[in-house]
Parts: sequence; structure tokens; C-alpha cells
Amino acid sequence: MAELTFRTGTMDAGKSTLALQTNHNHAARGRAGRLFTSHDRAGVAQVSSRLGLTATALEVAPDFDFWRYTVDALTQGGRIDYLICDEAQFYTPAQVDQLAKIVDELQIDVFCFGILTDFRTRLFPGSARLVELADRTEVLQVEALCWCGKRATHNARTEDGVMVTEGEVIVVGDVEGEPAVATPADEPEVAYEVLCRQHHRRGLTAARARAVSLSAEPLPFD
Ligand SMILES: [Zn+2]
Repeated sequence: MAELTFRTGTMDAGKSTLALQTNHNHAARGRAGRLFTSHDRAGVAQVSSRLGLTATALEVAPDFDFWRYTVDALTQGGRIDYLICDEAQFYTPAQVDQLAKIVDELQIDVFCFGILTDFRTRLFPGSARLVELADRTEVLQVEALCWCGKRATHNARTEDGVMVTEGEVIVVGDVEGEPAVATPADEPEVAYEVLCRQHHRRGLTAARARAVSLSAEPLPFD
């Protein structure tokens, strides 16, 4: 029986690495798959992991139709045993519905990977739909850590180094490094960082914690 699975975790949890590993494992068994991604940090339709592995993928735009794509490919004699769907938090709920239909009606395994909640701690619509529909949802065992050493459960967005909790949901940036895409001078530099819930609530990023401890100010307890 084919399954729709959703593997989720925070930004540093190694989801893209696992997506590439899953693809490798199935391809090694002679199965034919397709890779999809959306807004990948490499800036092109590519699944790229922080460990340096990459693979070309199909970009999922909001109007992309998984069902139509798959039926067309099969009709033209193509073989598809499974789909790897990275950055699935960016997919629309309708696209997630299409993936469930592909599993049920075409008996094709669909492996989804994505972040559960955005920088405001709200569920991404695509992730919410996956939790509702997936046969299995797994929180990844490779756990990211907050700067304090606790398990990082939340994603923080910073603009020019300052944590923000409002703004467009989808802005691609990098984690604790240079932005993936060059930002115009008049726009803030967007970056992401994983934090424990306590430090996300307080807006205490690694840089701010460092600055606070250097200036020997009392910690800002809310
Ligand atoms: Zn922390």
C-alpha cells in the first residue's frame, strides 16, 4: 500500500538531507521517483542540504498541479514509483490534496519533508493540510539546538539581526549565515535561526544573547 508521509522538524533538523537520502535509497532499489521543491535555499529548483549534497528538482509554483503532472507523465509511458516533496510547507493545501489523491488512486508513495510552523509560531497552511491528511507524520530525530543548548522547537526570523514576529510568511533567507539571495541595499537582510520556545518568546537570538552578556546587562525577563 502506498503512503503519504510527512517528516517535519525545525529549520536545522536535516529535512533536505533526509529527502536526498530517501531518494537515494529508493533509486538504489531500482525505483523511479521525482523530486520536488519550492523556494529552496539554493535559489533554483534544487534540493540542497546543509551538508553540501544537491539534486535537481522540479519547482512547485502555487499553480502547479501534482495530479495533472503525474497522470500526464504516466500516460506518456513514464514510470513513477514515488515522489519526494521537499519544502512542503510552501505547498498550497490544494496541492497537498492532490498528493493524497496520487497516493490513493495511483498507488504512488509520496514522501513529504517540511517545517511545521513559521517564524510567528503559526502552522504553515501546507503543513497543516499534511498533518490532517498524512498516513504518518514524524518529527525528525535529528534535533536542532538553540544557542542555550536546549532543543530548538521554533523558527525565528531576523531582519538586520533583529528578531521579528510580523511580515510576509514566505521570505527566503539563510540560517545563521549569508542570505541565499543577494538583498537590495534598501531591504533588510533576512535570516533565520532556530530557538527553544522560551528564547523565541523572549526574542533572544544568539547574537542578542551575546550582546547582552558582553554588556553585562541583566537578561530581559518578560
Ligand atoms: Zn534557548
